[in-house]
Amino acid sequence: MTDQELQLLVEELSLHYFELPFLHKAYFNSRLRTTGGRYLLRSHNIEFNKKSYEIFGLEELRGIILHELCHYHLHIRGRGYKHRDADFRDLLKKVGAPRFCSTIEENKKKTSSRTYIYECVECKQRYPRKKRMNVNKYRCGKCRGHLIEQITD
Ligand SMILES: [Zn+2]
Ligand SMILES: [Zn+2]
Repeated sequence: MTDQELQLLVEELSLHYFELPFLHKAYFNSRLRTTGGRYLLRSHNIEFNKKSYEIFGLEELRGIILHELCHYHLHIRGRGYKHRDADFRDLLKKVGAPRFCSTIEENKKKTSSRTYIYECVECKQRYPRKKRMNVNKYRCGKCRGHLIEQITD
């Protein structure tokens, strides 16, 4: 699916389910990782995760579009557009949109298994740790050198 096809689909669903036009831009953003879509408050554009579509298919994408359009239409009309707002919940129900979008499994795993890497400045020995540690309190087990935290994502 291209950005143009996505744009058309969003416009179509907006008219069909909300009876209101979608007047901004919809496009895929490859940097989105943990969510299926994201409504941008400043530009009013909506970004979508192509992986959601590739992994879960068109039905999932339609659900994500409807969910994001709920944020969009409520925000533009100055209504409660946040997940906790009653306006938002009511509109989700009305159009049959999912409350939350399926998160993408491989990314979910990545974040839950996050590790901190500590490296000895002297001998370069690396120490992966589940929890963050105080580098001022610990030294390298091999050479007693200082440890530094490596930046990981
Ligand atoms: Zn949302
Ligand atoms: Zn060392």
